[in-house]
Amino acid sequence: MKAVRFHEHGGPEVLRYEDAPDPKILANEVLVKVKACALNHLDLWLRMGVRRWQLPMPHIVGADISGEVAEVGPLITRVKVGDRVLLSPGISCGQCEQCFQGLDSACRSYTLYGLLVDGGYAEYVRAAEMNVIPIPGDLDFDEAAAVPLVFVTAWHMLFTRAALKPGEDVLVIGAGSGVGMAATQICKLVGARVIATAGADWKLEKARELGADEVINHSKQSIAEEVKRLTAKRGVDVVFEHVGAAVWEDCFESLATYGRLVTCGTTSGPEVKLNMQVLYGRQRSILGSFMGSKSELLAVLKFIGQRRLKPVIDSAFSLAEARAAQEKMESRNFFGKILLHP
Ligand SMILES: [Zn+2]
Repeated sequence: MKAVRFHEHGGPEVLRYEDAPDPKILANEVLVKVKACALNHLDLWLRMGVRRWQLPMPHIVGADISGEVAEVGPLITRVKVGDRVLLSPGISCGQCEQCFQGLDSACRSYTLYGLLVDGGYAEYVRAAEMNVIPIPGDLDFDEAAAVPLVFVTAWHMLFTRAALKPGEDVLVIGAGSGVGMAATQICKLVGARVIATAGADWKLEKARELGADEVINHSKQSIAEEVKRLTAKRGVDVVFEHVGAAVWEDCFESLATYGRLVTCGTTSGPEVKLNMQVLYGRQRSILGSFMGSKSELLAVLKFIGQRRLKPVIDSAFSLAEARAAQEKMESRNFFGKILLHP
């Protein structure tokens, strides 16, 4: 099959569109012909190399996959050839205490497509039957690939970690990113008020179209001062964050008493300074979040199938143009998901 692989870590130039061995499925696995694969920032981190993850080389990234079932192993009962499916991006053992509690991403053997196993930058991918989910409603393959990772991440952050309640004020940092556009919509679904930030006015307009009540252009305005103004100095109940160091002070300052800051990433750097006096004095919480569970994904997909939550697609590239697609993601000049078509 054709695939985009890298043989060593580095910049976008290490991505090679080339022939790779066809995946061979086990008796309890499903072979999926990939129709669309969405990019995530994770793909770029993995390409550049992350110390704690030793990737098999050459490696195929890509966690958000939709496609058609091409072949099923003899033990498969629920899925058949020709089914239109998407893959739950998280892979966990399904047998441990964490898995049974629905805390899939806390499973000791947790991984993702494109992390320790091959992902979707390829014509075919093999998957466990447990990960194969029918595409809900009348979604096309592009829309289906644009959903899983960002929506399950945002859902887990807002409900499971930050315990979001109807009517609360939420500051969504980087509303133009995949998780940001998912968070904005999920907040509106439960009647929260969204204050969205982005670095360009055209992105803020799109955030408003998705339901953002107030917007802040962080390239021209101070996030903390604007939040103060928009909340009559009270601050927000929840800060939804994935940028890290560059916005930390603004985010922490924007929290109300009893406010919760939830974060799933540090694209601008992981080290920050914390004033513990303010932390305990104002009874704030700082919460880390990583991915979400298959059960949370199924909950999100119900709303997606009803089109009460919608995937947002920026653009699509052919598989051979994976390098250009990743360069677009690095440029930050996009809103919503960037897709590859094998
Ligand atoms: Zn497990």
